[in-house]
Amino acid sequence: MKFDTVIIGGGLAGMVCGIRLTEAGKRCAIVSQGQSALHFSSGSFDLLSKLPDGTDIEDPLAGIAALGHTNPEHPYAVMGAKRCEKYALEAPELLRAAGIPVSGDCRRNHCRITPMGKARATWLTIDGYLTAEAPERLPFRKVCIANVEGFLDFYPEFIAEEFRKSGIECTFASINLPDLEQIRRNPSEMRSANIARVFDHEQNLEALAAQIRDAAATCDALILPAIIGLNRNDSLEVLRAKLPTPLYLLPTLPPSIPGIRAQQALQHRFRALGGEYFLGDSVLRAEYEGGRVKRIFTANHGNIPFEADSFVLASGSFFSRGLVATPDRIVEPVFEADTVHTPDRSQWYTLRFFGRQNYQAFGVCTDSSLHVIRKGEAIGNLYGAGAGLAGFHPVQEGCGAGVSLLSALYVADEILNSK
Ligand SMILES: Cc1cc2nc3c(=O)[nH]c(=O)nc-3n(C[C@H](O)[C@H](O)[C@H](O)COP(=O)(O)OP(=O)(O)OC[C@H]3O[C@@H](n4cnc5c(N)ncnc54)[C@H](O)[C@@H]3O)c2cc1C
Repeated sequence: MKFDTVIIGGGLAGMVCGIRLTEAGKRCAIVSQGQSALHFSSGSFDLLSKLPDGTDIEDPLAGIAALGHTNPEHPYAVMGAKRCEKYALEAPELLRAAGIPVSGDCRRNHCRITPMGKARATWLTIDGYLTAEAPERLPFRKVCIANVEGFLDFYPEFIAEEFRKSGIECTFASINLPDLEQIRRNPSEMRSANIARVFDHEQNLEALAAQIRDAAATCDALILPAIIGLNRNDSLEVLRAKLPTPLYLLPTLPPSIPGIRAQQALQHRFRALGGEYFLGDSVLRAEYEGGRVKRIFTANHGNIPFEADSFVLASGSFFSRGLVATPDRIVEPVFEADTVHTPDRSQWYTLRFFGRQNYQAFGVCTDSSLHVIRKGEAIGNLYGAGAGLAGFHPVQEGCGAGVSLLSALYVADEILNSK
């Protein structure tokens, strides 16, 4: 099989890179072995919330410019502030064109609300999810928090505790329907995706509205866990039209309905543009000629190779097994790319769970064009994008999705501009 570009990994980075390349007319394939971090997403995309020294960031682009002086190893610094700004301005439109309606400003972070009710700075949030300009500026004074009976991945009491700190009055409502009884019989089935399937049916959406309508009438707003809209786009709109007060969604613990929907939408957009998507297949190894990747081999296609002019490594970090930790080194298993890590394993992590974990900044070595480096040499037709890049702390710095989105667009441009 011959393509212009083959992308290894179908998470946010791989999909966005594939979309940009197919939009430009390239014949592109994505091989992805499984679920991506999007399935665990908050429904918000972070660009930069904190500098590596812990300083809070209001203006992500200003923060990115500062990284160029203080942290030259950070992917944003490698790509340069100017091009980061270009891609930060382009990314929301790419997401919207794929059917992911997002709002936010790369010059000014807003707050998303976590499943525990905490406010966290972020860049883009999927429309319909509760956001605020600042933690103490939620758009209501009296709110009703609804939950499905027996659903344990959403915590109305914790959320209320946080809201009350801002003087907000909270009440609760409980949801139950005959169709939910079936999944309630087995507590491990009471997960957001299964519940959302129930509410994909029109009559259940109507019944849901009927159950929360009275509670909503006594409040300025109603909050619902993200348990609607798995397989239909209009659930929130339909529900909102049936209620007397504004309805907002809050993310739940995984699986994440907004994340699954985003993954499906990106996949659909890539295919609609003519891209070929090989899901459930793993890239195992590569062959090289003249210092370039010539072909790759996958588990499902055996000795039938994927050949391409260029390849993109977007296989993620440890979470997606794009990187693997052995007792003494960090391995990138497909290309055996050089990796950035400290030799002393005791320095890889701290026992303080929420502390800054050094291993999070480990990743694949690249040059300034994000060519992957192997045995000390940059491979001219192999690029790295996304969570597997070295030099950043996605959680502490609040920059996970931003690095994936911006590096994907950067790499696509490098490929399009290469000879
Ligand atoms: C649990 C979790 C939750 C997160 N939530 C958020 C959030 O809410 N907001 C935010 O801004 N950031 C979040 N992040 C940060 C996250 O890294 C980015 O947001 C982004 O989604 C990562 O996308 P990616 O494509 O770079 O990597 P991934 O999403 O990890 O995708 C990599 C893909 O490559 C595939 N793959 C790996 N090896 C192979 C192989 N050999 N062959 C074929 N396919 C392969 C994997 O199966 C996977 O599909 C989260 C990260 C994690 C781990």
